[in-house]
Amino acid sequence: MRHAANPSAMLLIVSGPSGVGKTTITRAIHESVPDSWLSVSVTTRAQGPQETDGVHYRFITEEQFDALIADPSGPPGLGKLLEHAGVYGRRYGTPREPVEQHLARGCLVILEIDVQGAIQIKQRVPGAFAIFIMPPSEEELMDRLRRRGRDGDEAIRKRFAAAQREMQEARSCGAYDVFLVNDDLERTVKQALRIVDEERALRRERASGPGT
Ligand code: 5GP
Repeated sequence: MRHAANPSAMLLIVSGPSGVGKTTITRAIHESVPDSWLSVSVTTRAQGPQETDGVHYRFITEEQFDALIADPSGPPGLGKLLEHAGVYGRRYGTPREPVEQHLARGCLVILEIDVQGAIQIKQRVPGAFAIFIMPPSEEELMDRLRRRGRDGDEAIRKRFAAAQREMQEARSCGAYDVFLVNDDLERTVKQALRIVDEERALRRERASGPGT
């Protein structure tokens, strides 16, 4: 997929381990940037009690997921998705068409996806920009996972180990343009907004620069 010719268009990836506050940060960026659009992923995981189908995710069956990636309208293995990955034994993917449509309109398109997804997007979409959110420390991450009160000790240990692996992978894979430490939510949101604004301004400037 080509990155849209519209110089305002930007594909923004936001990733980070669970418990780091990335959903809050992603939604804050979406609310602050008027021409932004937040992608809704498909997933085969169960819908949570606080979640709305079509808003947080589109909840689909394994068969529906298989049909999406087998669709002949797209590349083999991807079909109607731009990328997909297995996380905690469940599948997640980004529908391609709405992403392309919003990029063509010059929007800031936001994807909240994991490291495997970010690596795929970076290979396929030149110009995609990726931010990884880090916890201030491993102790703080452990505390946050405990405070969520969702999981027992064993599940918390597993999530913590998975978070450590994900942070390691994020550092070594080369897909991320920026790492932000979320030590203060408001400050992290402001930093993320400034980085996104500057990057878009730079691209617009380059597009209208000498010789064009
Ligand atoms: P959760 O089930 O907690 O909502 O999400 C689990 C993980 O899957 C998170 O790291 C989230 O960012 C990631 N994720 C959500 N949607 C997608 C997607 O469409 N593609 C990929 N690769 N990862 C996703």
